[in-house]
Amino acid sequence: MQWGSDALSHRNNRESGAPVIRSIQVPIAACLALALFTGAVRAADTDAVQAPVAEAARLAGDGVRTRFIMDLAEPVDFVISTLADPYRVIIDLPETRFDFGEDAGKDGRGLVSAWRYGRFARGKSRIVLDAVEPVTVDKSFILPPVEDQPARLVLDLVKTTREAFLEGISRPEPASHAVTKGDKLTAKLASSRPLIVVDPGHGGIDTGATGRGGTLEKQVALDFSSLLKRKLEETGRYDVEMTRDGDVFVPLKKRVEIARALEADLFISVHADSVRVGKNEVRGASVYTLSEKASDAVAAELAERENRSDVIAGVHLEDEQSEVADILIDLARRETKKFSIFFARTAVDELRSAARVIKNPHRSAGFRVLEAHDMPSALVELGYLSNRLDEKLLTSDEWRERMTTALVAAVDRFFRPRLVRSGVASSASSTQ
Ligand SMILES: [Zn+2]
Repeated sequence: MQWGSDALSHRNNRESGAPVIRSIQVPIAACLALALFTGAVRAADTDAVQAPVAEAARLAGDGVRTRFIMDLAEPVDFVISTLADPYRVIIDLPETRFDFGEDAGKDGRGLVSAWRYGRFARGKSRIVLDAVEPVTVDKSFILPPVEDQPARLVLDLVKTTREAFLEGISRPEPASHAVTKGDKLTAKLASSRPLIVVDPGHGGIDTGATGRGGTLEKQVALDFSSLLKRKLEETGRYDVEMTRDGDVFVPLKKRVEIARALEADLFISVHADSVRVGKNEVRGASVYTLSEKASDAVAAELAERENRSDVIAGVHLEDEQSEVADILIDLARRETKKFSIFFARTAVDELRSAARVIKNPHRSAGFRVLEAHDMPSALVELGYLSNRLDEKLLTSDEWRERMTTALVAAVDRFFRPRLVRSGVASSASSTQ
């Protein structure tokens, strides 16, 4: 893992310099293991066992003063920050296990319209409260456990003006670790095989869409991506990395950064969103590429949804502007666009033979995760969780098997010219 060491050193910087979390519960050795990209799924499980536990949380009060209360097995350190547009109050915690019921956070009360919680980064959990109007944190404290009462984190919100909110804003610490350029060189030198980065959508605090039966998009995307990675690797023709391999949030920009730092030859983002067209449910798979203007209303709505990921997780967007238009970037983009479209069409072609696809299955819109100007990128919507039948399919082994096989075939067709040149073609064609 070439860039694992970078993630590691950066992580150390972040933790040593950050006053955010004073009591990391994970031993240092475990932190080191976590920082390495490979094996993070297993490490994450260990982590969860040692994490402090939040047992329940609720809202109380009204539109004048709203209180957020969270029961804890033990007191923890926390840091509060705020973000505008939309108004959000963010509570950062050390990695915490949330033993909440399924509906926790869905209903608002008083000044809070909804809230969510989850893993934000390695060693870090987060709660994001959506405020219906500008608020100020009047009080925030930890109550120690008393007799049969658990420890509690209490947060009191009161109304304020937009001006006062903006003035008092305190942005959360960014959690993404940068990927440096040095890493990609070693990554590429090590292998002559094309490198594919598979990007499981959402994760951690951003659950993505929820099916009617409770299936979470972030889990569907991770399961599918893991299988796709394995199958691609089994061909012996590709190197494959994933942008996340556990239940952790990764900002959109970071996903692109990871793949670009590795000099990926192809970037595939995996999703399973919920979309409706008017009253009609949409069924089936589809593939999206980047375009300035959306190809249609469904693509536009999907891009808007997918692009909300950072807002959902309470990431400040100021540094997330698109790159400045530049003639060279523009040229690279045109070339990249051709390849992206070629892959999308090939993927649609293969998926069509494996499963149901939607009408006009190749569409385009301004997906931020597809913005790399020098890396062919496509976003695959496996099917729509809004549809009951699709939700069943998305969790079935047989369907996953068919769909990943189709995508491997699409990847083979995409890289065939290059594999022919490098002499790997005989094995590429003999196994099909
Ligand atoms: Zn999604």
